[in-house]
Amino acid sequence: MSYLKWKRLCKTCGIRYAEIDNIGVHACRFHSGPLNRDGPGRWHPEGCWDCCGKSPYPYLSNGRRNPRYASKFVDGCTGMDHSALQTCFTASDNLQEKDWPVELCEQLSTDILKLREGNINIMHKGLRINRLGEFYVQRFAVDEAMLRAKHRFDGNKQMTTEIFYEKNGEQKSVVMDKDATVGDFLVQIGANNIKRGDVTVVEKNKKLLELDPNIVYSIYD
Ligand SMILES: [Zn+2]
Ligand SMILES: [Zn+2]
Repeated sequence: MSYLKWKRLCKTCGIRYAEIDNIGVHACRFHSGPLNRDGPGRWHPEGCWDCCGKSPYPYLSNGRRNPRYASKFVDGCTGMDHSALQTCFTASDNLQEKDWPVELCEQLSTDILKLREGNINIMHKGLRINRLGEFYVQRFAVDEAMLRAKHRFDGNKQMTTEIFYEKNGEQKSVVMDKDATVGDFLVQIGANNIKRGDVTVVEKNKKLLELDPNIVYSIYD
């Protein structure tokens, strides 16, 4: 029997799994950000994971229930594969197509066909294609982890947005609360007005949520 079919125990969640059904599925979870042990982190207070703002502690030091505690998030907020050997993965754990055993190629073939047809509704969420057209498997949700590092999340909900703007010929960006206004944004970057393209002036009471994160705004006085 192929070693890919051996049953193993996941070091993180304790479930029994076989690699053949596990690789690239991201059925396990971890926290992609740190647990803020000594004071607040970038986005969240002490005692919370910075990636999701949830806390592993059901009670506060005063004996009250901790509103940040959520059992759903205790095991993690970001997807990864089960592993009997490690509790987190990095990009160096990517599995390149040329190294895939035959059984894995067969297992991934349906999703490969879907990706080739531009259908991203795949079971192996970690399956990716590089610029040379070669496939590889990411063992954890890399894009999600990066998003959680860049933005403030409440559980699975993204609470901030990134606004791109051009100032003195230089392209910059700031990450701010989606609920903040264009006025707040202008204060933050020390500018008076922004325009979308050359003509459309953006009103100061507009929420950042309503701005387009895919365009570069221009600053003017
Ligand atoms: Zn988390
Ligand atoms: Zn697991």
